[in-house]
Amino acid sequence: MAGDNPKGPPPPFGFETRAIHAGSRPDPVTGARNTPIYQTTSYVFEDAEHAADLFNLQTFGFIYSRLTNPTVSVLEERLANLEGGRAAVCAGSGHAAQFLTFFTLLEPGDEFIASRNLYGGSITQFGLSFKKLGWTCHFVDMTDPENIRAALTPKCKAIFLEILANPGGIVLDVEPIAAIAREAGIPLIVDNTMATPYLCRPFEWGADIVVHSTTKFLSGHGTSVGGAVIESGKFDWAQNDRFPTMTQPEPAYHGLTFFETFGDFGFTTKARAVALRDFGPSLSPTNAFYTITGIETLHVRMERHVENALKVAKFLDGHPAVDWVSYAGLPSSPYHALANKYLPRGAGSVFTCGLKGGYDAGVRMVETVELFSHLANIGDTRSLIIHPASTTHRQLSPEQLRAAGAGPEVIRLSIGLETADDLIRDLDRALTA
Ligand SMILES: *Cc1c(COP(=O)(O)O)cnc(C)c1O
Repeated sequence: MAGDNPKGPPPPFGFETRAIHAGSRPDPVTGARNTPIYQTTSYVFEDAEHAADLFNLQTFGFIYSRLTNPTVSVLEERLANLEGGRAAVCAGSGHAAQFLTFFTLLEPGDEFIASRNLYGGSITQFGLSFKKLGWTCHFVDMTDPENIRAALTPKCKAIFLEILANPGGIVLDVEPIAAIAREAGIPLIVDNTMATPYLCRPFEWGADIVVHSTTKFLSGHGTSVGGAVIESGKFDWAQNDRFPTMTQPEPAYHGLTFFETFGDFGFTTKARAVALRDFGPSLSPTNAFYTITGIETLHVRMERHVENALKVAKFLDGHPAVDWVSYAGLPSSPYHALANKYLPRGAGSVFTCGLKGGYDAGVRMVETVELFSHLANIGDTRSLIIHPASTTHRQLSPEQLRAAGAGPEVIRLSIGLETADDLIRDLDRALTA
């Protein structure tokens, strides 16, 4: 199972080496050098006892691809390794990964605190759909960590944030927030989609769980939707009585206790063995293959994404039709110092700008660009543009729009890997049109 390495932690290879090799090796049967797509639903048992042991979680192995698949396992191990975590479980999308995380943490009636600066879909998932499951999310402005302390209730079981927020170019001060979570005895969950482990590793700053939409920079080419949950292995689920899900016997597995039995990979094991098993949002082996292939060039792509983003942000910052640019990579950004601390290799390649012409100018711009694609995604090799107020964030109220950094005049850009001067020319033409 992912991360279960009896020889202890891997030797300290560099990030680039691990992005290419972690979790994979030549196929032991055929010698195939690349990780094969194990396009199979199920796996032959050695005998009846082996089957029973697998079903009882007494041995690791493959039963059925809703739970585990060898191609997906390689991706799980690679992501756990790159984040510096203990183990991972993949899911069919970033939203599915968030669902697996919270289903594993919460009981009906439980609460959690989330940053109000989140991907629009996460605000809807947490605020509306989770409510139907009896889970209450309190959204707070985490640019002042004290707001979190003020919002904590005895029923709060987690704190959730995006360290580099989508869409606003906001960087949160994770270290003091992790201290608040530690003091409260609850895990800090960080969505690291926008930064990727190349730019930031939240476990180094005190996070307990990292979630990803691998759909974005990790797969990197706009081909494959996917998600992942990674645990640090350091959270003590038995420190208080808030996590019976981890410390009490699980009826679905003959009274097995996940924390006692699996220890530092108990959380992802439970997310797989219960939430993934019973709700089924599994990652397909083919999408895992595309994502593994994407990760092999993550370090090279992120360097260029960041370089291009800085060039484009500087250009927009000086353009007469642009009111403001919110990119933490610019020295003028109020988040520049935090970016230097948490994202020393660059502040990602997704950022927003405000057009002087407001809502109408935003709509006109997305319709005028040619090289940029007008669509709802980020983290592609191609440069992407969207007007959040009329698309991704249109479910939100005007007040929520402002709070999420997605007001009517806001344009979100995801800067790709094309020639920077071509991107600048395309934007200039659209802004001047
Ligand atoms: C896209 C995204 C998600 C949701 O992921 P899907 O793969 O689309 O389900 C969550 N968080 C962030 C920051 C995202 O950009």
